[in-house]
Amino acid sequence: MTHESAGEPTRIVVVGSGFAGFECARALTRRLRGTDSRITMISAHDYMLYTPLLPEVAGGILDARFVTVPLSEALPNVELVKGNVDSVDFEARTVHVTDCEQGVEDVAWDRVVLTPGSVTRLFDIPGLAEHARGLKTPAEALYFRDQLLTQIELAERDTDPSVADARRTVVVVGASYAGTELTAQLRALADEAAARRNLDPAKIRFLLLDAADKVMPEVGEKLGGKVLDVLRSRGIDVRLETTLTELGPEHVTLDDGTVIPTRTVAWVTGVTASPLIDTLGLPTEKGRLTVRPDLSVEGHPDVFAGGDAAAVPDPKNSGSITPPTAQHAVRQGQALASNVAASLGVGDPKPYSHRDMGLVVDLGPGFAVANPLGIQLSGFLAKVVTRAYHLYAMPNAANRWAVALAYLTDLLFPRPLVSIGLVTDSESRFAAGEGVGAQH
Ligand SMILES: Cc1cc2nc3c(=O)[nH]c(=O)nc-3n(C[C@H](O)[C@H](O)[C@H](O)COP(=O)(O)OP(=O)(O)OC[C@H]3O[C@@H](n4cnc5c(N)ncnc54)[C@H](O)[C@@H]3O)c2cc1C
Repeated sequence: MTHESAGEPTRIVVVGSGFAGFECARALTRRLRGTDSRITMISAHDYMLYTPLLPEVAGGILDARFVTVPLSEALPNVELVKGNVDSVDFEARTVHVTDCEQGVEDVAWDRVVLTPGSVTRLFDIPGLAEHARGLKTPAEALYFRDQLLTQIELAERDTDPSVADARRTVVVVGASYAGTELTAQLRALADEAAARRNLDPAKIRFLLLDAADKVMPEVGEKLGGKVLDVLRSRGIDVRLETTLTELGPEHVTLDDGTVIPTRTVAWVTGVTASPLIDTLGLPTEKGRLTVRPDLSVEGHPDVFAGGDAAAVPDPKNSGSITPPTAQHAVRQGQALASNVAASLGVGDPKPYSHRDMGLVVDLGPGFAVANPLGIQLSGFLAKVVTRAYHLYAMPNAANRWAVALAYLTDLLFPRPLVSIGLVTDSESRFAAGEGVGAQH
């Protein structure tokens, strides 16, 4: 017997506090106000991470705290459980949760919303998991800032010029928006460090690689071409149709056989659904949980999913699923709230639909590209639109304030050159379940 029929509050459990889970919980509290229901969010973290600004954390413009929205503040009417959901029992209607001290608990639900997002997709390339780092967490962003500044410092005192050159070489793999933004931000940080040390900035070398034949296919040919020009004008060596075949602690090997001595490698080539999805025993598409147009799971009307973890049919592109973006995750979170509420008799269910709002991509000092509502912008105007968009989209006033002040600081002062060293080597590494070899 469910709690709905036993006269107890209806229990809605949301798994994951990313864009989709956060928006779903926030909208559900409004929709179900006045009903006898209890919303519980279970997440590995006590924050919602605003990932689009991670490159600016790596580049030293923003503090990691500014891009982490505290759940306790933003979702005051939601019960928060910090832990990892390892399995879902669809018969008993429970999720099994393990906390950070290995304490376990079964949490019961009448409706469950699965939004555990994605992890970095790794390929079976020798040395990749050991020697590269991704860009999905604040720890990884801080790692890049610290690593770049530390290697520049060490290089200055190195007596072996070949070791110094390796220390001053950064390889970024993945030239879609996240990898390109990371390269641009780290380049700007390196330029600042070079200026303060009277070092020729060309001595700090950046390679941006991609297996595809263009950068940032998401923004189209014209803006992609402008991005390529800007990257090259900043001395970034962009190599398309190129990837890695092997990595060691002090080098990478490209697929044309070239060996590049380096100690800093970013792997930003894409994501794969959270490992939780594989444990469910439910149908998947490209590793993501198959859902119906109303975001419920076939045969399980009380189970819903959205965001990067779900294969949501794209109504604008028949036969396809929506790409893993924050834009879709936010809207799917809102659709999840409507449809979960409808399943409880509040409002009517609706299939997921969306309108493409375009993309904004910040490329460091004075430059961005953006295509809001299909209008193609680049340069300083795009930069203003990009920063204004992030301030608008940031879902908490205190975070918005902190980011706005950091942007103002960036206008008035140079980037701070500090490697605080808060992140240990193991914290910045790929997690065990990070989808090695999952080539969907
Ligand atoms: C560097 C970077 C830049 C990006 N920039 C943009 C951009 O500019 N525009 C854009 O549209 N998209 C962007 N994206 C993509 C965007 O971040 C994702 O599409 C979006 O975060 C997906 O939201 P989500 O809620 O599905 O998952 P996530 O945001 O990944 O959140 C998943 C949540 O679930 C939690 N979780 C995972 N597994 C479990 C579990 N087993 N138990 C409990 N909790 C769990 C996680 O801790 C996390 O809180 C960017 C991504 C990155 C990495």
